[in-house]
Amino acid sequence: MHTKKQIVECIEKCRAHGLKVTPQRLLIYNELQTSNGHLSPEQLYNRVKEYQPNISLATVYKALDVFYSVRLVAKVTCLECTSAYYETNIEHHHHLICKLCQAIDDIYSDQLDILNIPESLIKEYQISGFSIQLEGICKKCQSTK
Ligand SMILES: [Zn+2]
Ligand SMILES: [Zn+2]
Repeated sequence: MHTKKQIVECIEKCRAHGLKVTPQRLLIYNELQTSNGHLSPEQLYNRVKEYQPNISLATVYKALDVFYSVRLVAKVTCLECTSAYYETNIEHHHHLICKLCQAIDDIYSDQLDILNIPESLIKEYQISGFSIQLEGICKKCQSTK
């Protein structure tokens, strides 16, 4: 992973947007980045607490909001999810959400990328992008059945 590079990018992007770069924010970003996955604010909070016991959940929420507003992180939400999940992977990709354990897997697929958006929708809306959320049962849950 390009952790160092991304941290530098995080600092630069924050500064470019006039956002304060605090050690706590960097810790939050770094932890999300190294987790290499999709974390809810609570999950992320539990991880950063290990390093900074006096950090608050509100700080984590705020930092994620700020990062999201400048597209440093992406957000995954689904109807059945109990929370929103965040990731530092802002490349275009899709997700599979496990119906049993709510694990979120990244899906890269050229075939999903070329989805044809109906002409009528393009006329009606200013569509800027799409991502597909597949539902199913993850490999882990299949093997523990
Ligand atoms: Zn699962
Ligand atoms: Zn993802």
